[in-house]
Amino acid sequence: MVEGSGSGAVTATVQGSGGVVVSEAEVWKALEKVEDPELPITVTDLGLIREVAVAGGRVRVRLVPTYSACAAIDVMRQDIRLRVLALPGVEEVSVELAFDEPWTMARMSERGRAALAAYGLSLPGRRAAEPVSCSYCGSTNTTLENPFGPTLCRAIYYCRDCRNPIERFKPPAE
Ligand SMILES: [Zn+2]
Repeated sequence: MVEGSGSGAVTATVQGSGGVVVSEAEVWKALEKVEDPELPITVTDLGLIREVAVAGGRVRVRLVPTYSACAAIDVMRQDIRLRVLALPGVEEVSVELAFDEPWTMARMSERGRAALAAYGLSLPGRRAAEPVSCSYCGSTNTTLENPFGPTLCRAIYYCRDCRNPIERFKPPAE
């Protein structure tokens, strides 16, 4: 038996009651199916999962609270709980927010960025303070029109060149 330290360094599978074993890899695989309810991106591509720890039949998932202002985070937490609970050998799931490290765009995977760009969202760069570029013509001659887009995670910009409204993914720090 391996002691679950909760440090995230536990990679060995441990025996849950009933003899069914769940591994961290299986939990990660289940998490890859959890999508943001408002955007076509999974929680793993979003970089939302900070840590998965397995100890016997107990699983702890820690999230980086990117969307703390959005109702989406509660939907995702619930979805994560149900998906992980459905795995054989899992008896208990806790989904916590880890406030020790802020979410940044750097946590988003290339696949996630590609998915959001294909969806038509303008994305912030990996570094802050880059100009907002138009998702239609690429111009940076843009202006903030409405900081509150259709959801709290999006803002509306306006392109002065092609005169299109631009939906921009809005990370918490922006
Ligand atoms: Zn434009």
